Amino acid sequence: MSATNDIHKVVIAGAGFAGLSAAIALARLGKEVTVLERSDRLAYGASITIVNRGPDALRDLGILDEASERGFAGWNRSLYDDFFDEQGGRRPTPPMPIRTDDGLPSYIVIYRPVLAEILSAKAADHGATIRLGVEVTGMADHGDGVTVTLSTGETLDADLLIAADGWRSAIRDQIFPGRVTSTYSGNMSMRWVKRNPPEGPEGFYVNDRSGVVVVHNMGAEMVYIATGIDMENRRIEQEEAVRIFREILSEFPAPYIQALRETVTDDDEIVVRPYVYHNMPAPWHAGRILVVGDAAHTMSAHIASGGVMALEDGIVLGEELEQHEDLDEALLAFAKRRARRTFVAVDACRQMLDLQVNYQAHPRDLGRVREGAFRELLNEY
Ligand SMILES: Cc1cc2nc3c(=O)[nH]c(=O)nc-3n(C[C@H](O)[C@H](O)[C@H](O)COP(=O)(O)OP(=O)(O)OC[C@H]3O[C@@H](n4cnc5c(N)ncnc54)[C@H](O)[C@@H]3O)c2cc1C
Repeated sequence: MSATNDIHKVVIAGAGFAGLSAAIALARLGKEVTVLERSDRLAYGASITIVNRGPDALRDLGILDEASERGFAGWNRSLYDDFFDEQGGRRPTPPMPIRTDDGLPSYIVIYRPVLAEILSAKAADHGATIRLGVEVTGMADHGDGVTVTLSTGETLDADLLIAADGWRSAIRDQIFPGRVTSTYSGNMSMRWVKRNPPEGPEGFYVNDRSGVVVVHNMGAEMVYIATGIDMENRRIEQEEAVRIFREILSEFPAPYIQALRETVTDDDEIVVRPYVYHNMPAPWHAGRILVVGDAAHTMSAHIASGGVMALEDGIVLGEELEQHEDLDEALLAFAKRRARRTFVAVDACRQMLDLQVNYQAHPRDLGRVREGAFRELLNEY
C-alpha cells in the first residue's frame, strides 16, 4: 500500500492542457512537479473553445480572468446560437443549454498557444518545472517509485508518473497494451487561423449534407476557421491541405466565407488532424503510472469538450489525491469520477461523427445529440 502523503515527486509526460492542469493542481498541493514536453513549443497554432464547465475549470486553476482577457469571452449565450446556411442566410436553431447566469462566461474562445502559455506560467508560479524539447522515452515502475528515462539520457526518480502524452500515448500503450483502440471516424479536421480578418458574421455555416465551416472570433484581431472533409486516414502535406481547404470554402457561397477564402495564402498553416475517438474504462492507472487527458479519452471538436475534459482531469486528480490516504484508492476514485463524464463527451462526438459521415444527417439531428451532451456536461465535474 502506498500513501498519497508519500507522493512528493511527480513527473508529467506532456505539456498539453491535461499535463499543465495536473501540474498546477499538484504543484499547489506542495508536490515537486516536473513536466516534460517533447516538442520545443507549448501548443500548435489553432484555437480552443472552452464551454460548459470549462470556465469553472479555468477559475479553479486560477487563470479565468487572464484567459477571458486574452481570448474572447461570451456571456449568457451559447456559442451555438449563430447558424447560417451556405448562402449566409440565418438558420434558426433550437437554443443550446447554457450555464445559469452565475458570473462566469458561458464560453471562451482562445488561441491555443496563449492558453498554454497562461497555464504554464501558473504552474511555474506554483513551483513546477516545465522542460520543453525533452521526451519521456522509457519508464520502470519498481513498486516504491518509478524511474523515468528521458531523451537527454537522464533518468528521473518519481513517486508518480502521469502520462498526459496525447491520444497516441506511448506510455498508455506500454502499461495497458491493447486496452485502447482509437477509431478513425472517416472525417479529417482542418483548422486555420486568420490574423486581421475581414469582418463578417461569425458562427456555424452549414449545408444540408452535414458540411460545416465554423468561424469564431478569438480576440486579439484573430478569427478561427474550422472545417473537415470525409476521406481516408492518411498524411496530408500543407500544399494539399491548402488546396482542399480552399475547395471546401468554395462550397459555401456566403459572402463572409468567400471573403475569408480570398485571404488564404499558399503558405498559410492548415492544421490537419484525423477525428478519432476512444474512452478508456477505469482504472486509468497501473501501480504508480497514471493516464490522463486525451491519452485516456479522445474525441472530435463537435462539442468542443476534449480540452475541457483534459483541464478538468487535472483538477479532479488534485482533489482525489487530497481526499484519500491510499494512492491506489485515490487513483481509482479519480478515474471512476472521470470515466462516466468523459464517456458522455466521447459518445456524443462518436454519434455526431457517425450521423455526419455515414448518413450526411441534417444539422438539426447533430444538434440534438450536442444538446443532450451539454445537459450532462453542465453538471459539476
Ligand atoms: C480539430 C480539433 C478541434 C478541437 N477543438 C476543441 C475545442 O474547441 N475545445 C475543446 O475543449 N477541445 C477541443 N479539441 C480537443 C482538444 O484539442 C484535446 O482534447 C486536448 O488538446 C487534449 O489535451 P492533452 O493535454 O490530453 O493532449 P495533447 O494536447 O495532445 O498534449 C499531449 C502532449 O504530450 C506531448 N508528448 C507526447 N508524447 C510525449 C513523451 N513521450 N514525452 C513528452 N511529451 C510527450 C505532445 O507533444 C503533446 O504536447 C479539439 C480536437 C480536435 C482534433
